[in-house]
Amino acid sequence: MGNKTNSKLSIFALGGVNEIGKNMYVLQYDDNIVVIDCGSKFPDESLLGIDLIIPDISYLLENKDKVHGLIITHGHEDHIGGVPYILKQLNMPIFATRLTLGLIEGKLKEAGLLADTKLIQMSSDSTIKFGPITTSFFKTNHSIPDCLGVVFDTPEGKVVHTGDFKFDLTPVNEQYADIHKMADIGKNGVLALLSESTNAERPGFTPSERIVGEHIEEAFTKAKQKIFISTFASNVHRLQQVIDAAHITGRKLALLGRSMVNVVKIAYDLGYLHIPDGMLIEADEVSQLDPDKVVILCTGSQGEPMAALSRLASSTHRQIEIMAGDTVILSSTPIPGNERNVARIVDNLFRLRAKVIYGSGTVTGMHVSGHASQEELKLMLTLMKPKYFIPIHGEYRMLHQHSLLAESVGVEPENIFILNNGDIVDIENSVARQTRKAPAGNTLVDGWGIGDVGNIVLRDRKHLSEDGIMVIVITLSKIDGKILSGPDLITRGFVYVRESEGLLDKANQLVTETINKLQAENINQWSSMKISVKAVLGKFLYESTGRRPVILPIIMEI
Ligand SMILES: [Zn+2]
Ligand SMILES: [Zn+2]
Repeated sequence: MGNKTNSKLSIFALGGVNEIGKNMYVLQYDDNIVVIDCGSKFPDESLLGIDLIIPDISYLLENKDKVHGLIITHGHEDHIGGVPYILKQLNMPIFATRLTLGLIEGKLKEAGLLADTKLIQMSSDSTIKFGPITTSFFKTNHSIPDCLGVVFDTPEGKVVHTGDFKFDLTPVNEQYADIHKMADIGKNGVLALLSESTNAERPGFTPSERIVGEHIEEAFTKAKQKIFISTFASNVHRLQQVIDAAHITGRKLALLGRSMVNVVKIAYDLGYLHIPDGMLIEADEVSQLDPDKVVILCTGSQGEPMAALSRLASSTHRQIEIMAGDTVILSSTPIPGNERNVARIVDNLFRLRAKVIYGSGTVTGMHVSGHASQEELKLMLTLMKPKYFIPIHGEYRMLHQHSLLAESVGVEPENIFILNNGDIVDIENSVARQTRKAPAGNTLVDGWGIGDVGNIVLRDRKHLSEDGIMVIVITLSKIDGKILSGPDLITRGFVYVRESEGLLDKANQLVTETINKLQAENINQWSSMKISVKAVLGKFLYESTGRRPVILPIIMEI
């Protein structure tokens, strides 16, 4: 590597480190940029009214002309959820496998972007050249089919991004991982490895998806009446195992929930899901069959209030009813934050006298993780033998645990980079440094708006949600500035008006006095009037109620 002149390799995350969700990683060699994944995540309660969070892509917009394309490792929302919003800001070709593209197409269609987006289908055998970066892939196991790890061969060396993975030696539908290929990649030397950290806190190995199938079949065999089973729609292997168990026990299958119907259709059309002829029935046919001849596969295993399972549990589903003695299986482990919603549904199911199989998947056998546990993470590190290691896809403690695992298998501690979103690792002449930063953060999506809701709007929403609002409408005469009508006080979310007449009368009186006093002092500017009304009223309302509603004076002149 004698005479290279300032060619630089840079690696960073625009989303996905110090968080679970909105994954987006960037690899740049000189003036060539490749983006990996384009995820979204759901907001917490503090982001009132926000629908979705996506990565801030200012860096990519500033370097638009250098961006070659977007590689998507697999079809989970934390990797594809941002696609329609990001593509609206920056159109780039998308490279992904068949199922992943199928899921993305649906999103682009809804957003009206399908015709204008270049979609390039690839497989684990594809090779793509992005300028001096030769990109190839390897198959991994995960909780959705068609997952890829990515290898970037740059003049500086190889960079490997694992995507999400586990090692499943007995995968469903013969979807084996390319373990030999991984070993080959590592044998030829890996400069830097980016590996996912979701389960870095979990010791041992993650069990095979196949054991879930055994438990599902056992439960189906025991059930005497209707069976309801709920899982993530995107877990196509799990869906296959439900279909297989239904087939073995001679039951028909009904699908409930928009995403379930959608994913089953895409996966079936593309050949990822095998469904015996005549097995699928419509929801309104369920009541015509004997209870022991039917399975209902539905969404809502995380307790989502609007999903099918929640409606069934509260007996508000239009077509199907859960009866005493029916079996309900939650084929999932509640994600932190969803436990309460799941618990409420389980309560309701027991009230209906259903037999409910729920709780942690490791206890019920009804769920296994799609992510590698500690021993598998060590295996990936050992296969790749990277010089530099960057743990990704996880919160800080997970990244930290993953870094310890890397050290335990021989990665030099000073060669491990735990990054924040935006921290750039530059590698030049085989030496890596982290000194620069790219802009990174949350872009908030609310309705049709992308990034237009910021801290100021959120502060107002928080304020409104806590103490409500009082609007004061006053009409003044154009001629002498005297009050013609009002003040009219309108409140929402502040006090119950019918029981607060005394308070509102006093407030009204106070506003009138304030206006009259200002006019006596010849202060006629609306802005000063509004400030005074707000101050006087704010003080009065706080002293009498201990609340601080948003006060909005509106002055009109006729
Ligand atoms: Zn995933
Ligand atoms: Zn993920």
